[in-house]
Amino acid sequence: MYDVIVIGSGPGGYVAAIRAAQLGMKTAIIEKYPTLGGTCLNVGCIPSKALLDSSEHYHNAAHTFKTHGITIKDLKVDLPQMIARKDDVVKQNVDGIQFLMKKNKIEVHQGVGSFVDANTVKVTKEDGTSTDIQGKNIIIATGSKPSSLPFIKLDKKRVITSTEALKMKEIPKHLIVIGGGVIGMELGSVYGRMGAKVSVVEFMDSLIPSMDKTMGKELQKSLKKLGFEFYLKHKVTAVENQGKEVVVKAENGKGETIEIKGDYVLVSIGRKPYTDGLNAEAAGVKITDRGQVEVNDHLQTSVPHIYAIGDVVKGAMLAHKAEEEGVYVAETIAGQKPHINYLLIPGVVYTWPEVAAVGYTEEQLKEQGRKYKAGKFPFMASGRARASMDTDGLVKVLADAETDEILGVHMIGPRTADMIAEAVVAMEFRASAEDIARMSHAHPTYTEAFKEACLAATDNRALHI
Ligand SMILES: Cc1cc2nc3c(=O)[nH]c(=O)nc-3n(C[C@H](O)[C@H](O)[C@H](O)COP(=O)(O)OP(=O)(O)OC[C@H]3O[C@@H](n4cnc5c(N)ncnc54)[C@H](O)[C@@H]3O)c2cc1C
Repeated sequence: MYDVIVIGSGPGGYVAAIRAAQLGMKTAIIEKYPTLGGTCLNVGCIPSKALLDSSEHYHNAAHTFKTHGITIKDLKVDLPQMIARKDDVVKQNVDGIQFLMKKNKIEVHQGVGSFVDANTVKVTKEDGTSTDIQGKNIIIATGSKPSSLPFIKLDKKRVITSTEALKMKEIPKHLIVIGGGVIGMELGSVYGRMGAKVSVVEFMDSLIPSMDKTMGKELQKSLKKLGFEFYLKHKVTAVENQGKEVVVKAENGKGETIEIKGDYVLVSIGRKPYTDGLNAEAAGVKITDRGQVEVNDHLQTSVPHIYAIGDVVKGAMLAHKAEEEGVYVAETIAGQKPHINYLLIPGVVYTWPEVAAVGYTEEQLKEQGRKYKAGKFPFMASGRARASMDTDGLVKVLADAETDEILGVHMIGPRTADMIAEAVVAMEFRASAEDIARMSHAHPTYTEAFKEACLAATDNRALHI
């Protein structure tokens, strides 16, 4: 009898297992794939960032090195090597999780986990053999899979998901991306930087539509410079694989149908929770109409000693959100009283410029009728950004009109994925814009843009613009 059984080894599951083991609980983890780490490490965060870094190096070598005074002859992309390096990065990371399981004495069971009853999980290996294991507490961390539209046939050759986009055999000539969200913009950037024409078809009126509107607008400007073309407010109605060519049909706001022809279509319209094979009903665990495992505010399912975390439950589908929930549940089982501040889980898009945000968007504050002030600082006015030739983008700080408390920070620019951490700390400690404006930020750094935006929010006092 284990104290805790975790089903799924993504960032939610493996972190939950480590924290449970740290707290002295006898822990097992079940993973159906041969490697640990889930979507994030195998076909998500890590491989996409590896390819984003490689393609950005190529793009800079092709387009900005000359201005820096560096000339390269015979520059070309070796795609198989780029993919091989990505695979090596993935291997280092998934092997690292295997090591962490061993170090923390967590028993790894390879196979599909399915409930037999509320305390028993059957682990079925690929060869069909199975073992039953029992746990006092069980954590469901089975993650998500790419979603599609009912009329789209994902043949995984020309009509692909993010998983196939991470192991392409050739650079597309014309990649059509359905969905202007994070994954589509990141993977579109990878191939756009290496010369692919990229067309984006998005139903909403802006890119990355769940983020502050300014971010979508600015990102669109930057990606246009990279050669992207956009079909916003277009509803995809058909996708046809015609052999060497793929045709996407979409309806614009006036009801007219347009046709876009390319050689690959990336369907990136979001992800759906994954519970196939889990046999949740055998344990009495309820699944919502949207396919998520139903949980209360303590991440307990309809069966109190069975918890669920990460992409398979409500909330943002992000690795660090899943990790926080993993720690939360392990500590709850151990009798502690942990807490997660969901408002302060940052969101990042690893395009270039990067987009990063935390807290409320300007649209949300307007909707709430909250009085706020906004301070902005463009990277064009940053000495550091000029030195590195990364002047696209800005930092926007939203603060309460009366108390000056920071309510939201939205950044688009160089290294904002790392910079957003300062905003998270500030907001977690409920800093005012003036608090940040009065703190020394090393010069020259990109972080000065955050300080300047805070100065701008505090009686329009920005110094360098
Ligand atoms: C291309 C791409 C890029 C991304 N980039 C980022 C990023 O930069 N930052 C970020 O925060 N998020 C990113 N994400 C999202 C991130 O990957 C997910 O939010 C995260 O992996 C969710 O973690 P999880 O533990 O809930 O589930 P998952 O990582 O999906 O892991 C679930 C695991 O459970 C296993 N499993 C499922 N059912 C069973 C079963 N019955 N028995 C045994 N095992 C089972 C699965 O095989 C899988 O390994 C990206 C996603 C994609 C696709």
